[in-house]
Amino acid sequence: MKYETVIGLEVHAQLKTKTKIFCSCSTEFGRQANENTCPICLGMPGVLPVLNKQAVEFAVRACLATHCEINPHNQFDRKNYFYPDLAKGYQTSQFALPIGKNGHVNIEVNGNKKRIRILRIHMEEDAGKLIHGENLGIPGKSYVDFNRTGTPLTEIVTEPDLRSPEEAREYLTQLKAILEYSEVSDCNMEEGSLRCDANVSLRPVGQEELGTRTELKNLNSFRFVQKAIEYEVDRQSRILDQGDRVIQETRLYDSDKGVTLPMRSKEEAHDYRYFPEPDLVPVAIDSEWVERARKNLPELPEQKRQRFVKEYEIPEYDAGVLTASRALANYYEDSLALFSQPKIVSNWVMGELLRELKNDDRGIENCPVSPTALTDLLKLIDKGSISGKMAKEVFEEMYRTGKPAEDIVKEKGLAQISDSSSIAKLVEDILEANPQQLQDYRSGKDKLFGYFVGQVMKASKGQANPALVNQLLKDKLKQN
Ligand code: ADP
Ligand code: MG
Ligand code: ZN
Repeated sequence: MKYETVIGLEVHAQLKTKTKIFCSCSTEFGRQANENTCPICLGMPGVLPVLNKQAVEFAVRACLATHCEINPHNQFDRKNYFYPDLAKGYQTSQFALPIGKNGHVNIEVNGNKKRIRILRIHMEEDAGKLIHGENLGIPGKSYVDFNRTGTPLTEIVTEPDLRSPEEAREYLTQLKAILEYSEVSDCNMEEGSLRCDANVSLRPVGQEELGTRTELKNLNSFRFVQKAIEYEVDRQSRILDQGDRVIQETRLYDSDKGVTLPMRSKEEAHDYRYFPEPDLVPVAIDSEWVERARKNLPELPEQKRQRFVKEYEIPEYDAGVLTASRALANYYEDSLALFSQPKIVSNWVMGELLRELKNDDRGIENCPVSPTALTDLLKLIDKGSISGKMAKEVFEEMYRTGKPAEDIVKEKGLAQISDSSSIAKLVEDILEANPQQLQDYRSGKDKLFGYFVGQVMKASKGQANPALVNQLLKDKLKQN
């Protein structure tokens, strides 16, 4: 590679307050257009905003969870621009004095651990949504829905520390988990509560100075973030190879075509004419409040991961997978409470369970097999009622039908034979039916032991308890 990829991400996360940031309108998603509006969020002249304390509390929590310093004195500014879904003609946003700065998120890609620095976290209000008639069969007309206007957001901006599309994706995965764990955002990407812009540039390997960047917008899934950056890296390296220069601009990702397309040039630095919002007093955050928030912060993914390794003695890899979402970690711990063999439960959750969920494109929240149902199955294996191999078959059926393990085992006649008298009978039959092999065994062909085991298992249609077969066979061969 001649060039090094440099990426900085800007993530907008909707804070999950019940009401908007400067008025008491509901933030509920999916309501009728313009139902959640009032003179304040519609930007009528003469109205006065009032800051939602809960939004600040969530922002504080987001800062703490990402190891940011909290500015005890932060402030809202007006960012002036015209846009049809922003009725005020400016967005109220923090600029000069954001609520948080100098944080970090740790990531690991292909075994390499890395710290991604966070430059700043600021609060701002969201804009509304334009709905274009083309999509509704009314070409030539556009509509505006102000329901989203004034929804509180935090914008989380990284330093240009990411070096590959995979790192960008991993950072987002970790950040999302942190925001979910700390309960500041539901991070629902389909509903737009987590949105990401990616800044991408290339520089010759070894060069200190950053190259010219483009900013990619419209990235509404982690996969698209990765794909768009991959495309952009390719596009920029072709430009540089030809001796041309990259133009600083904003580009849109077209996920159907898998390409980025120019949206607007950013060559002349934007001129938003920021100035302090005169209708809001500066925000003073006292240290006691911050300390209380710090104390009340739930366990975060990294802490949980470390605790799982220490407490349950499972590999770091397992702990990473199991703590990827809070819901999955809860599922794991709920299961452990019912069946306390951490590595066995981990194998089943990471293996069979996540495989089925993935095939099904389902989250753990909608898993048809509850921790109780899963551990009932594991108990059957533990008791020796079924073999591990059969259990996998049973699990598939449990997942498909929602039936308890025990019922499926009964219906299918899968129960493992663990009663020694019937296995002893099978052992005798097999030895009797194979006199030649028995003789060879006695004259020193020890390997034939495995053959006898195989024959007994076969005769039992795989249902005999293998440990018991081994034991009884040994006893029998010693006897005669
Ligand atoms: P803007 O306000 O224009 O979006 P910022 O200075 O706030 O610009 O930077 C936004 C993001 O772009 C940050 O995440 C930063 O790390 C990243 N960034 C800045 N310069 C570069 C560059 N040359 N290459 C890649 N990312 C960059
Ligand atoms: Mg930007
Ligand atoms: Zn309102």
